[in-house]
Amino acid sequence: MLQVKLTKPFEMSFLEAPVPEIGEDEILIRMKRVGVCASDIQVYHGKHRYMTFPVVQGHEGAGEIERLGGKVSGFRKGDRVTVQPQVFCGHCAPCRNGQVNVCQNLKVYGVHTTGMLSDYFAAPAAKVLRLPDTMGFDEGALVEPAAVATGAIRRCGDLAGRNVAVLGAGTIGNLVAQVAGASGARKVVLTDIVPKRLDIARACGIGACVNTRGRRLKEVILDQFGDDEADVIIDCAGVKALFSEAVAAARCASKLVVVANHKEPVELELPLLQRREVDLLGIMMYLREDFQRAIELISRRVVVTVPLITDHFCLRRMEEVYRYIDDNPEKVMKVVIDIGD
Ligand SMILES: [Zn+2]
Ligand SMILES: [Zn+2]
Repeated sequence: MLQVKLTKPFEMSFLEAPVPEIGEDEILIRMKRVGVCASDIQVYHGKHRYMTFPVVQGHEGAGEIERLGGKVSGFRKGDRVTVQPQVFCGHCAPCRNGQVNVCQNLKVYGVHTTGMLSDYFAAPAAKVLRLPDTMGFDEGALVEPAAVATGAIRRCGDLAGRNVAVLGAGTIGNLVAQVAGASGARKVVLTDIVPKRLDIARACGIGACVNTRGRRLKEVILDQFGDDEADVIIDCAGVKALFSEAVAAARCASKLVVVANHKEPVELELPLLQRREVDLLGIMMYLREDFQRAIELISRRVVVTVPLITDHFCLRRMEEVYRYIDDNPEKVMKVVIDIGD
């Protein structure tokens, strides 16, 4: 089978690898789609701090079941599936408290261990989730980023009747805004400075999409929400200066939520947050229940994912993908790799 391996930053090799053997608790998946994530781009550039080369990438996958291990039940050959790409230890303190997504020994497929950029991928049945028949493989590849969003919104608590501002209309910001809307928020405002991203957000049905270029965040929030301002501000942009604006714009008894990967330390005006009793939340990843909710919302088209996909490449053209993304930052949203078509 074809497998793409990153050997070091900016270098990949195309291998003819054997189809993986499966254990009795495992499932062999014939891969169909793999999404390219911002973290994959960091790895390609050698900027990801917590991984080592070589690595087979791919943690946003969809495919169909080719073979089942002897002890696997509840699945059939031909089922469409996605994979929750986390390996956790089960015995550290966060794992014992049910927060396996921040396991102290967490490994992510495609980052710390072999990912899905191959014709076939073997996964323990416990990491595999079935996709409804109504869901296409493109949508299946968007389940993982949508699970980041359902995980983030779960951590925000009850959003019923709340005003939510989402900063950054990339894939994650878009999905976070959609899930917030699906979770009963009174009003959701999504901001960015790239017109194409805001157009895609409108195509997904997000009502209030605001271009904040040249404007202060506080002013936009007052303009959009009135004197009640934002109950929750969710940073999906990861821009240092914007985060400082978000701190300044956080109202009394509000929540400030960090989903974006900030690449450098950010100075925090702590007294502002403390006096206003602002809850600061960090979001890393999802639990299985977040994956299940993402599948449900996408299959009902409450969360719309197809407009997020701007480009498809086949696996053989993987070499071109990162250069294309680097050269077209304002044009590219989600790139999906097609496998085996
Ligand atoms: Zn990702
Ligand atoms: Zn653990």
